[in-house]
Amino acid sequence: MYPANFEYLKASSIADAVRLLSENPGAKLLAGGHSLIPLMRFRLARPEVLIDIGGVDGLRGVTVSGDTINIGALTTHATIAASADVQRANGLLAEAASGIGDPAVRNRGTIGGNLAHADPASDWATVLTALGATISVQGPSGSRSVAAGDFIEDAFAPALAEDELITTVSVPVLAANQRAEYAKMSHPASFYAVVGGAVVVTMDGNRCTAASVAVGGLTPRPVKAASVEQALSGTTLTMDSIADATSRLGDDISAAGVDVIGDVFASADFRARIAPVEVKHALLHAIDLAHH
Ligand SMILES: Cc1cc2nc3c(=O)[nH]c(=O)nc-3n(C[C@H](O)[C@H](O)[C@H](O)COP(=O)(O)OP(=O)(O)OC[C@H]3O[C@@H](n4cnc5c(N)ncnc54)[C@H](O)[C@@H]3O)c2cc1C
Repeated sequence: MYPANFEYLKASSIADAVRLLSENPGAKLLAGGHSLIPLMRFRLARPEVLIDIGGVDGLRGVTVSGDTINIGALTTHATIAASADVQRANGLLAEAASGIGDPAVRNRGTIGGNLAHADPASDWATVLTALGATISVQGPSGSRSVAAGDFIEDAFAPALAEDELITTVSVPVLAANQRAEYAKMSHPASFYAVVGGAVVVTMDGNRCTAASVAVGGLTPRPVKAASVEQALSGTTLTMDSIADATSRLGDDISAAGVDVIGDVFASADFRARIAPVEVKHALLHAIDLAHH
C-alpha cells in the first residue's frame, strides 16, 4: 500500500532538525527508513511531515576518544560492523552489528533509528544496556544524556520527547581484562532477536570480578540481570557456576515487573526458558568455553 500523503522536509543541521520538529508537532524523523516506511505503507503510522536527517553533518561516523567510542546516530549497522576502530575497541559492537538483519538492512538501518524505534526485538538496546552505553539526545533546550538501560521505557516507547533527536551513542572501550559477548535466538527470516543475552565480564585469570548482563527480545524493554551478575561476581567461571548463575534470570525478570512476550514466533513460556540458555551461551563464548 502507498503511505498517506505527507510533507517532506530536509534538515540541514542538528539545530535545524530540532527546529523543524518543534515547528511540526507529530512530525517524524527519517533516518534509514527501514522501520518507519513499512509502518507508513501499512498506514500504522501517518505522520503529516517527514524530516529527512540523512544529510545532516555530524550525525554519522565512529570516533574513539580515550576510553569512549562515540557513534553518530546516523551510522549504519554495516559501518559499525566494518569499523577497524570498533573491532579493536569493543568487538561486541562489531559482532552485534554484523548479526542484524540482512545486508540491505545493515546498509540502510542506523543505530539511532533502531534505538528510537524501540522494538523489543532490537539487538542494540540489549547490547548497549550490558555495555553501559550512554545515549545523547538534543532538544530545543539543549542536550542531555540517558543511560542505555533507561532509554527504552516500554515497547516502541523510547525516552524521547517529540521534539528531540538522538545525536550520539557513547560506549566504553573494553579493558584488556574484559570480555563481552552477545548470543541470540533470532527470527529465521528477519534475524530480529526472539531472545538475546548480552554479557560483559571482567576477569582476573579464571575468576570473574564484575559482570554486566542484560536480556532482551522476550520483554518490552531490556532487563538488567542483577542477581545473575551478583552470582557471577567473585566466582571462578566454570560450566557449573555459569549454569547456577543463569538459573537466577527468572528472578530478575520478575523483579523488573515486565511481562514476557508471547506471540506467533514464540510463546512466553518458551522465551522465558530460552533466555538463560542464551545468557549461558554468551558467557561460555566470553570465556572461550564455546565458539560461535
Ligand atoms: C527485514 C528487517 C530485519 C531487521 N532485522 C533486525 C535485527 O536482526 N536486529 C535489529 O536490531 N534490528 C533489525 N531491524 C531494524 C533495522 O536494523 C533498523 O535499525 C530499524 O529499521 C530502524 O533504523 P532506521 O535507520 O531504518 O530508522 P527509520 O525507519 O528511519 O526510523 C525509525 C524510527 O526512529 C526515528 N528516528 C530515526 N532516527 C532518529 C534519531 N536520530 N533520533 C530520534 N528519532 C529517530 C524515526 O522518526 C522513526 O520513528 C530489521 C529491519 C528490517 C526491515
